[in-house]
Amino acid sequence: MTPVIQLHPENAAGGGCATAPVLRERGQREVFCGLTGIVWLHRKIQDAFFLVVGSRTCAHLVQSAAGVMIFAEPRFATAIIDERDLAGLADANEELDRVVTRLLERRPEIKTLFLVGSCPSEVIKLDLSRAAQRLTQRFLPAVRVLNYSGSGIETTFTQGEDACLAALVPTLPAADAAAPAALVVVGTLPDVVEDQFARLLAAIGVPQVRFLPARHAAEMPAVGARTRYLLAQPFLADTARALEQRGATRIAAPFPLGVEGTTRWLEAAAQAFGIGATRVAAVTEAARTRATAALARQRAELQGKRVFFFPDSQLEPPIARFLARELGMRLVEVGTPYLHRELLAEELALLPAGTMLSEGQHVDKQLDRCRAERPDITVCGLGLANPLEAQGLTTKWSIELVFTPIHGYEQAADLAELFARPLRRRELLSA
Ligand code: SF4
Repeated sequence: MTPVIQLHPENAAGGGCATAPVLRERGQREVFCGLTGIVWLHRKIQDAFFLVVGSRTCAHLVQSAAGVMIFAEPRFATAIIDERDLAGLADANEELDRVVTRLLERRPEIKTLFLVGSCPSEVIKLDLSRAAQRLTQRFLPAVRVLNYSGSGIETTFTQGEDACLAALVPTLPAADAAAPAALVVVGTLPDVVEDQFARLLAAIGVPQVRFLPARHAAEMPAVGARTRYLLAQPFLADTARALEQRGATRIAAPFPLGVEGTTRWLEAAAQAFGIGATRVAAVTEAARTRATAALARQRAELQGKRVFFFPDSQLEPPIARFLARELGMRLVEVGTPYLHRELLAEELALLPAGTMLSEGQHVDKQLDRCRAERPDITVCGLGLANPLEAQGLTTKWSIELVFTPIHGYEQAADLAELFARPLRRRELLSA
């Protein structure tokens, strides 16, 4: 009998808009699925492994999104499950257990194994949450096995991270009720950005700063009634809910994108611990001055340019706020797959009044609006970019906004540059 689940061969070795109306659309959408989050999650959590239970399509998606990375010991793989009837499910579970056992025997450094569900019907029939419980019982204390869904039916691409972190929250240690209040920054940030924020928050005087996810399983933050958490990403609604179920309280703030967003985000954290804005201003002065000066070049190029966002990462509203408020760009439409009004309240209040906000997607209608408006730059997924470029529109791949370090002062000019570069290229081509 041929194995029903195989490790994929290439991987086997290794505002003003606070109350503004929102155009809600339901129809065909052009967004990556939640498996894409594995690309940045596996880099961040260095002793975790992501085992996608899926099809060859899933394997190709993760591999191509991750780029051609040849690791001696990769931290993700796809267990390919073939078509089967219900009677074959017992075999599939046994095969999954065998694959996991082989993997964990070969890779003793793995401390957390995520079984990541996908959309093929054979995978949907498998109960991955029971599989995770069964395997956790077998492998604890060395390895905890968790599951979440990255299925394209249930998730758009940044929701994969939300589902992953929400799965982690119930496993976080309980904070000591007598310990002083602590801050947890929530959302995957590149290490360099995390280190910058850790230094700034320490200099401001915020005690006990931890990050979720941490780089290693043993460093995951404790959580309890005295935990205050601060989101670094806007797409973490399920994670926020799970943290609140553990007693943690959210610090409301805009997101740390651009000089203004970063300052307000730090101020909100400081205020939650009784530290005033003057202290934040003093600590951040040099970084703010540097970042503002660095933005001058792109400001000259982007001022007055019109930008249209197709919905993709849920980062659209904070980035639009940065582009509008710090670079003077004009917002034609700001689309987002989901608009979590509560998490985005501070962002929406900062968007220029009258900004056209849309949630969800009916891709044909949105393409019609975009073509009619002919914006200077269109932010969209890879699938839409080439056709729009062929029609003379300048595009920015939205996936780069997630794969590039963009948070914080030191990255503000890099974020602006992501928009300035395609415009510069278009000018050169048409000169
Ligand atoms: S999870 Fe679904 S949408 Fe994503 S790659 Fe697999 S089959 Fe495609």
